[in-house]
Amino acid sequence: MNRKTKKETKPPFNPFGGLGWLYFLIPMILGWYFLVRQTRIPEITWKQFDTQMLSQGDVEKLVVVNNDQVEVYILTEKLSKPVYENVPRELFTSNPIKGPHYYFNIGSIEVFSDNLKDAQQNTEDSQKVPVSYVKRTNWIENVGSWIFLMGLLIFFWFFLMRGVAGGTLDRGSSMFNFGRSKARILEKGEKNQVTFNQVAGIEEAKEEIYELVKFLKDPKKYSRLGAKIPKGILLVGPPGTGKTLLAKAVAGESGVPFFSLTGSEFIEMFVGVGAARMRDLFDRAKEKAPSIIFIDEIDTIGRSRGRANAFQANDERESTLTQLLAELDGFDQSTGVIVLAATNRGDILDPALLRPGRFDRHIHLELPNLNEREAIFKVHMAPLKISKELDVKVLALQTPGFSGADIANICNEGALIATRRNKDIIEKQDFLDAIDRVVGGLEKRSKIINRDEKVRIAYHEAGHVVSSWFLEHAHPILKVSIIPRGRSLGAAWYLPEEHQIITKSEFLDTICAALGGRASEEITFKEISSNALDDLEKVTKQAYAIVMSYGLGDTLRNISYYDSSGRAEQALHKPFSETTATKIDEEVQDIVDRAYERTKSILKEHKKHLDTLAAVLIEKEVIHKEELIEILGARSFKKESQMIAS
Ligand code: ADP
Repeated sequence: MNRKTKKETKPPFNPFGGLGWLYFLIPMILGWYFLVRQTRIPEITWKQFDTQMLSQGDVEKLVVVNNDQVEVYILTEKLSKPVYENVPRELFTSNPIKGPHYYFNIGSIEVFSDNLKDAQQNTEDSQKVPVSYVKRTNWIENVGSWIFLMGLLIFFWFFLMRGVAGGTLDRGSSMFNFGRSKARILEKGEKNQVTFNQVAGIEEAKEEIYELVKFLKDPKKYSRLGAKIPKGILLVGPPGTGKTLLAKAVAGESGVPFFSLTGSEFIEMFVGVGAARMRDLFDRAKEKAPSIIFIDEIDTIGRSRGRANAFQANDERESTLTQLLAELDGFDQSTGVIVLAATNRGDILDPALLRPGRFDRHIHLELPNLNEREAIFKVHMAPLKISKELDVKVLALQTPGFSGADIANICNEGALIATRRNKDIIEKQDFLDAIDRVVGGLEKRSKIINRDEKVRIAYHEAGHVVSSWFLEHAHPILKVSIIPRGRSLGAAWYLPEEHQIITKSEFLDTICAALGGRASEEITFKEISSNALDDLEKVTKQAYAIVMSYGLGDTLRNISYYDSSGRAEQALHKPFSETTATKIDEEVQDIVDRAYERTKSILKEHKKHLDTLAAVLIEKEVIHKEELIEILGARSFKKESQMIAS
């Protein structure tokens, strides 16, 4: 605690405030003076000296300094001659200075003596110019240049101290402040505050977290009865489900300072920085208590420290995690600091982090269901100008499996599309196009596709549609298109039903529908192509999941190799024998083979439908559900009729 208070009360050191600038100015002026003084006395050549001064008998004396420079003193009475006009003058009187008046450099003392002797050979001894030799250490000049150099160094040092990047004296911005946490602080009254009204759908989570807001607003009410509020709350859920939004809403509603940063911001290339930043973060939060710390993507530091990790040791991450654990233990609930953390990999977090007293409350967020999606659409459409006829429910129906972030994206994308079309309001079609764009990427009509390829793509997509149309458990089709989009050349839009449990028949029918494209190509062209890459990837993953995770296989019954702790990913050895591995592979191949044969027989049976659909697709490129019903007849399965009714 003391450490922190000291830090705070010390005013920031500002070399440019007060008289600090003198530190620079004095050495600079001194240095400059000595440099200039040096050049004030004019330099002359031996010849000038000989002809203009020595031969005229104007020289009073010579002083040889350090055997390499000769200072020339001119007789005072001769200084009035015009040649001596350039002699330096005294500052105030303008009289010539006392001397030396000139100087010249000599190569060696011997040559100089000889030259002087020659020049004065006709001069009487008494008239000869006296020469004295001195050794002089110009300490002032030396010191002056040193001071000048140091002044420069100090200047640069302060320049660096001010922070190369930000140019401010803020903490955290300087390159010497590695140990400072980089948390962004959201204080009360700041703009862009999020409220619970902006969080739609996740009602249970909101309710649970609302208790925190009440506590932060009035901590005494809780402590009166001895109730303890949880220290740490972990928000777990897929990306874009509103974890960050929820945390911000807590801060916005309760009006307490909110420190937010992501797990990766703790880690630098220097060891020990993460732990120091963690300490600093908690210190700052405690200072401003009641406050909220929000650590996004906590799995970056909170990954379980399992044995398997010994091979890829990451001491820095572990010491940061240990520091986090220590900090969580180090304050009691009455401090008023609440730690929120978010992750989409709740399963891989270190158990030590999850035990009571640390992150003891977990809130699971899931992808929104139909009603929740409708609510989220409404929140994001509130600031938009939308058509009155638009039925939000239709959009919610068309977006199963979409996260809150996807929906926010669709709303914005819809507004952009409507603007591009120069509309005054956003209509249903704009949103539908936005959905397509978010799902499949940008339409690429310019992609060059030759006629043969187009036919193949049409038969491929028609294969998906026809097979799923006549499979009881396949997802209902919404529309099909052969306009290239993103990476894909064509696509069939399904409307997966929202339920939590998937039966074996549903798995198998989905696999059949996914194989429909390849089967259709084989039946029609007698040759298969590379056009089924995505489908096969999906099918293979699903078939392995059926056998290895869900225990739905025929040979390996009721066995699951799924590891919810996430450690299996890092393990070097598979948790089963080679024999089992062979069995798994055989079983997977068997499932896919049987599904493929089944799909082929469906398509053969409905070859006419396949041909008609492909022909219409080639012509129109996009076919919607209503037209599909016209071509293929209504689907006779019970679920489908429910879908249409809704
Ligand atoms: P994450 O779960 O990955 O932290 P975010 O909270 O950052 O997701 O959500 C990203 C964006 O998605 C939010 O800024 C918001 O616009 C939107 N969003 C997500 N969930 C919701 C929701 N339940 N209600 C309203 N908007 C949401």
